[in-house]
Amino acid sequence: MTTPDHLAHSDVAYQLHAYTNAQRHREEGPCIMARGSGIHVYDTAGKEYIEGMAGLWSVAVGFSEPRLAEAARRQMECLPFYHTFSHKSNVPSIELAEKLIGLTGGRMAQAFFTNSGSEANDTIVKMVWYYNNALGRPEKKKIIARQRGYHGVTVASASLTGLAGNHRSFDLPLPRILHTRCPHWYREGLPGESETAFADRLAAELEALILAEGPETVAAFIGEPVMGAGGVVVPPETYWSKVQAVCRKYDVLVIADEVITGFGRTGRMFASDLFGIEADFMTLSKQLTSSYQPLAAVLMNERVASVITRHSGELGTFGHGYTASGHPVAAAVALENIRIIEERGLVDNASAAGAVLQRRLRELADHPLVGEVRGVGLIAAVELVADKASRAPFDPAGKAGALAVRQAQDNGLILRGIQDSVAFCPPLIITEAQVETLADRFAQSLEETAKKL
Ligand code: PLP
Repeated sequence: MTTPDHLAHSDVAYQLHAYTNAQRHREEGPCIMARGSGIHVYDTAGKEYIEGMAGLWSVAVGFSEPRLAEAARRQMECLPFYHTFSHKSNVPSIELAEKLIGLTGGRMAQAFFTNSGSEANDTIVKMVWYYNNALGRPEKKKIIARQRGYHGVTVASASLTGLAGNHRSFDLPLPRILHTRCPHWYREGLPGESETAFADRLAAELEALILAEGPETVAAFIGEPVMGAGGVVVPPETYWSKVQAVCRKYDVLVIADEVITGFGRTGRMFASDLFGIEADFMTLSKQLTSSYQPLAAVLMNERVASVITRHSGELGTFGHGYTASGHPVAAAVALENIRIIEERGLVDNASAAGAVLQRRLRELADHPLVGEVRGVGLIAAVELVADKASRAPFDPAGKAGALAVRQAQDNGLILRGIQDSVAFCPPLIITEAQVETLADRFAQSLEETAKKL
């Protein structure tokens, strides 16, 4: 019989987990989720949790949307698989590509599909190199990412990621990938420096880095409009326009990684709209299918697409693609998911319910443990500090964040600890009343954390 105990035993014995301390997992075992409903998930013992992270920042429409199950079933019965290699195509992938380009208002020209955000960013790295080879600039290959940026875990994407845990013992980052400062004013701003002056300084640092490396060697700059896995960092208002101006000055392509922010998370369909980002590439995934199917998309503008098209003609092929690029079931689910986001006004809901979330969390700003509350729409973080006045972090780093997340889980709320920041990213279907419940549970968990520290 498959009991929860039996499952836990088999999980520990047979599965190496993603982003888990494998040693500790043997001692503590898993929390196994058995089913979902709306914003809630239920473990094998029947305990209910608000999924305050929408799974992995991704389940926009909640955990029980029958229309997505039906879209997958219909497509599986009609044509369960067909690929996009060598001039073949399938109907859902065509419709999805057209829909995504339409959603960008035509700023983007073409879509290329992968299974994951990591593969999408790896694909972009290769496309950037291909593009510059096509233009006869083989030395223009370096890509600048940011400290604490997150772009995935494949070899090139993990190199773009600016987190030590993704590099240490993996022999990364690759050469030709550089990192510049994270736009986190609370942690990186100088005493007395305004947010605007901070943004000016970061743009100047980027320019200095490009000049030091040689602009003829720097191909692209990649960033998440709002950083997610690095701790939910909302940059200063003027940051993106200044950084973009530097990139344009030196003919450096701009890549907006909207894997978390795409499809309404910040209260706009894309966070690029929020900051006036006019990227050459966009990366989309997660809320693209609400993670009901693995799927990601690289969008590129005409400037890039036309060069890639021409060069593939010269070489005889664009020698890149995955078996599941443009998978029809994943694409059909994405199309239905986007329809639901539009029909139910979930982008506007992210604004309205997001305003409640931001207000409720900011009410905790005076708590002795809370250093900073930050966020926009339905994505936020509360950073815990050992000393409020000096902003001193905990020693060891992460101990307070881990405790707060454990308390919250005991109280029926799943959140994510990123060092000592606690991240919030609930499903876009969350109601204002449910946000209040989520915030109540977190406030209680914060009190309990303070007592235990
Ligand atoms: N880019 C961003 C901004 C992400 O947040 C993530 C995943 O969290 C990725 C890329 C990588 O996506 P995946 O985990 O699907 O490879």
